[in-house]
Amino acid sequence: MPDSFDLIVIGSGPGGYVCAIRAAQLGMTVACVEKRDTLGGTCLNVGCIPSKALLHSSEKFHEAGHGLAAHGVVISGVTLDLTKMQARKAEVVGANTKGVEFLFKKNKITWLRGAGRILGAGRVDVGGIEYAAKHIVIATGSDSSPLPGVEVDEKRIVTSTGALELDAVPGHLVVIGGGVIGLELGSVWKRLGAEVTVVEFLDRLIPGNDGEVAKQFERILTRQGMKFRLSTKVTSAKIEGDGVSLTVESLKKGTTETIAADIVLLAVGRRPHTEGLGLAEAGVVLDARGRVITDANFATNVAGIHAIGDVIAGPMLAHKAEEEGVALAEILAGQHGHVNYNAIPGVIYTWPEVASVGQTEEQLKESGIAYNIGKFPFTANGRARALGMTDGFVKILADKASDRVLGCHIIGPEAGTLIAEVAMAIEFGASSEDIGRICHAHPTLNEVVKEAALAVEDRALHI
Ligand code: FAD
Ligand code: NAD
Repeated sequence: MPDSFDLIVIGSGPGGYVCAIRAAQLGMTVACVEKRDTLGGTCLNVGCIPSKALLHSSEKFHEAGHGLAAHGVVISGVTLDLTKMQARKAEVVGANTKGVEFLFKKNKITWLRGAGRILGAGRVDVGGIEYAAKHIVIATGSDSSPLPGVEVDEKRIVTSTGALELDAVPGHLVVIGGGVIGLELGSVWKRLGAEVTVVEFLDRLIPGNDGEVAKQFERILTRQGMKFRLSTKVTSAKIEGDGVSLTVESLKKGTTETIAADIVLLAVGRRPHTEGLGLAEAGVVLDARGRVITDANFATNVAGIHAIGDVIAGPMLAHKAEEEGVALAEILAGQHGHVNYNAIPGVIYTWPEVASVGQTEEQLKESGIAYNIGKFPFTANGRARALGMTDGFVKILADKASDRVLGCHIIGPEAGTLIAEVAMAIEFGASSEDIGRICHAHPTLNEVVKEAALAVEDRALHI
């Protein structure tokens, strides 16, 4: 095995492995250091992929039990085989991580197995062996944020990793944090039969997302049976017998009470993973939140050391990490890699889905940008009616003066797929009129995006 490379990437998540592949395509000799037994990082092993596998399986279970009678499909005796569901999830994960291994072989990328530690510019230690590289990329991702008074054991008090591995449906699951992980994994276990209570510090769910979408989301999830304790702080969680006793404080009333749970899921955000990397010794500077500070070219303050993905600033999303991986590899190869941070979609894979791209109304107001709104509900769409999926709406925000699309927020069926059209519109600098004048196939859910675009100028056709 060679001990010198053009590029050593530390971490094989979507940021790291994609950077490694693009660099290899551009002719560099590349190694990727990964300490897990499998490639693919958080995303493939304990994040996006296993959670989406369980979301899909649990949706099927729920539909079989509750959603088919309205279509005249009558089935009885629906039962859950959780062992099988979990085994399927493991197979999906295995196929994906093996897929990355295959891509490494195909692109002649060397997997250095073990934990990487930076010894200085151009030098990386893996398991006591020193490797040299012209460029080093830190792509070490993130871990769950801890919460004082709540000690995770991954059995009774779990992070997302433990919540993906439960071998029985909890009677009562209490989720700390009404963000993306809490609501996705809360949905999984709710559909499989758990009572789910979400305790959220703020007075709303999914902070950072459009406020109107968040309100509608809360109403729909409440209708599905999820319980919410907003403006509520968890001060401690103690394992007692087979369960957990949580002490919570209402921030509005100032009262304290205890809640009994079978399982507690701690999902209050994630923090950059930089432990044991030797960053202090190498002189790489972090910000106050522990993220590696980078410039517009992903360079740290130490020449030859770059960083991408969850470990740097920006949304902690797999596709954001991938875009950065590609852009950085191109920059290192002397090209002009670039990421448009304004056109990165975000999707919550609940039912219905929530998706957004660009700016929210709240952000536009704060920056004093004048805008028009076009909104269209799924209830007025023929395909949504045929599917029996009429919850939600598409909302498009366009610049008042130029009509350029500034943001889009969707709650509804296939929101995560529908948002791609608007991400492209933003990337191309399109106006709402451009979207409104594109011929959209009928009958499709995409027509709701077109109608919302038409609604910006008050000329939606089907409402
Ligand atoms: P990571 O994927 O975290 O990979 C970093 C890798 O570096 C890890 O494998 C780690 O073992 C390795 N590593 C760390 N330190 C070292 C070291 N010193 N030496 C060697 N290896 C090291 N995002 C989405 O866009 N869509 C989703 O649907 C989605 N769902 C998610 C669901 C869950 C439950 C979670 C937890 C996250 C989800 N995310 C999702 C977020 C997504 O997983 C992350 O944004 C993404 O994985 C970040 O990629 P990354 O390459 O920066 O780091
Ligand atoms: P998050 O930031 O989405 O949500 C955390 C929530 O916890 C927030 O609503 C916050 O107000 C709340 N909170 C913080 N401290 C609290 C406290 N003490 N008590 C009660 N509530 C508290 O974080 P997450 O859900 O843990 O997800 C972490 C990251 O993973 C996110 O950045 C997300 O981008 C990524 N992720 C993405 C997807 C997706 O794209 N579908 C899925 C899962 C995770």
